[in-house]
Amino acid sequence: CGIVGYIGKQVAIPILVDGLKKLEYRGYDSAGVAVLDCDKIVVSKSVGKLVALEEELGQVYSQSCIGIGHTRWATHGRPSQVNAHPHCDCNKDFVVVHNGIIENYLELKDMLIEKGHIFASETDTEVLAHLLEDYYEGDFEGAVRKVLKTIRGSYAMVVLRRQDPDKLVAARKDSPMVVGLGDGEFFVASDITAILNYTRKVYILDDGEMVVITEDGVTVSDFEGNSRTKEVYDVKWDA
Ligand code: GLU
Repeated sequence: CGIVGYIGKQVAIPILVDGLKKLEYRGYDSAGVAVLDCDKIVVSKSVGKLVALEEELGQVYSQSCIGIGHTRWATHGRPSQVNAHPHCDCNKDFVVVHNGIIENYLELKDMLIEKGHIFASETDTEVLAHLLEDYYEGDFEGAVRKVLKTIRGSYAMVVLRRQDPDKLVAARKDSPMVVGLGDGEFFVASDITAILNYTRKVYILDDGEMVVITEDGVTVSDFEGNSRTKEVYDVKWDA
């Protein structure tokens, strides 16, 4: 339902939670964040309101400057802590937040289970993390592209990889997504209001676009890898 991602020099968790709060108006049943801390993906999730997540996060003293967050409106799998996003692969190398529906998730899940993947949740989203693990052959963006060609449905997603600590990869099809351009810091969100406290310069992604975000900048391409030039949209209104 709601997505926020951050990469920069500030501590990520407060920015992620603040962004998720701005998206509360859309409704949600659970929420979660993942940050990269000391080379490990640390995930915190909770059912219910964001105050519950904040309580959970009280125990996480992460100074990490990269992370992703999500508020979930369950479509596949009941509202529960396990089903809340972010979702990881078996090795906790990849972590994903996703809005929308992966229509062919059951056949993909069967294929992955046959290959030995163990699923933690009942969600359609979790197949994304396991597919990334399965497809990864030394190239993060390449693995994401292969996943985008395999899945059917609607999605805005953001992926973080443990061994790529300076990078977020995001993509969209039939579900909104924007990238916020700061000074040495970048944001990704399903809705501009989530990041308006931090920047007014955004790229509004189109369907079929994938974006690679590092502290040095943002590159947008199509799912084939051809680069796309985006215009910076200057947000003039207030939330
Ligand atoms: N289909 C996903 C799920 O049920 C994402 C739902 C959403 O957009 O929040 O977990």
